[in-house]
Amino acid sequence: MGLLNSLVLGSTKIMPKFVIGRIAAVYVAGNKLRDGLDLVQKLNSKGFSGTLDLLGEEVTNRRQTNRIRDSYCELLDGIANAGIDCNISLKLTALGLKINEDLCWDNLSVVLDKAREYENFVRMDMEDASVTELTLRMCDRAKKYYSKCGTVLQAYMHRTINDIDILDVPHSNIRICKGAYKESENIAYQDYQKIRDNYLECAEKIMDKGIYVGLATHDDWLIESLLDLIKRKKYKPNKYEFQALSGVPIDKRLDSLISEGHKVRYYVPYGPEWYAYSIRRMRENPDIWKDTMKAFFFRTKHRR
Ligand code: FAD
Repeated sequence: MGLLNSLVLGSTKIMPKFVIGRIAAVYVAGNKLRDGLDLVQKLNSKGFSGTLDLLGEEVTNRRQTNRIRDSYCELLDGIANAGIDCNISLKLTALGLKINEDLCWDNLSVVLDKAREYENFVRMDMEDASVTELTLRMCDRAKKYYSKCGTVLQAYMHRTINDIDILDVPHSNIRICKGAYKESENIAYQDYQKIRDNYLECAEKIMDKGIYVGLATHDDWLIESLLDLIKRKKYKPNKYEFQALSGVPIDKRLDSLISEGHKVRYYVPYGPEWYAYSIRRMRENPDIWKDTMKAFFFRTKHRR
């Protein structure tokens, strides 16, 4: 581990909460559901779609997972009542995936039932490699139960190019991203350009299969290459969207995507657990901390 990363890990223990709070505020809409809904409403008015993600701490028991399930149902009610263009993203571990697969399914199926009421879409985020297989399995089960759902593939994983075949089912909808966790070189590419190349190869395979794809990245080179790919494949605008995390300073690029007629979705986290969540993410992958600091210093005061 590099010196800077060690410093990051050490400093999260002593950094005052308000400092972490100021930095997290760049990314997190706020504590309450209303904060998330308001931010997405604002984004909608500028032509962007939204995904709301309720931030959660690691869960250790059934009761916590049930509370999170209920919060996601409230979120879906809130989105419908607000009449906004917004779907949801959730982490299956927050619904109990690491505790018990059946518990996770019981919770997920309740959220899917609620999504069905409003015909909304549910994205299952991809987490670290210890749950890749389980997540794909849960997604497969979920798709058979309610088709408006999908998961995420990470371009840094060696297995991803083959996992596309597993997810190639009717009404498939895949988000592709580089991958946010620290994984070993036995299972994941470490080289920056290799990950980009694999991202493009996977995106091309997904398009060849005619699957709806969420292209999640802030990497300008990659966005440019994806635009070339879309052009070359003549991929229809109703088969893809670009996705970005709210707070990452690439507003100009996203504005130009919108003005060129591409669909763009902002991923907006909210919730009272922002502090524990931010600390956990920084410890999981100190590189994120470096990006966060960059975003913090280079952002204008008025965030989207
Ligand atoms: P990079 O090369 O890492 O970044 C490109 C540029 O953007 C750099 O200048 C960098 O500094 C800046 N940047 C990138 N991220 C940040 C940030 N957080 N703050 C400030 N600046 C930043 N990962 C998963 O493992 N599972 C998921 O389910 C998942 N869902 C995602 C959903 C969305 C909508 C997005 C955008 C990302 C998601 N990710 C997920 C994270 C993803 O895997 C990458 O870790 C992250 O997007 C950084 O990769 P990049 O493609 O932006 O390229």
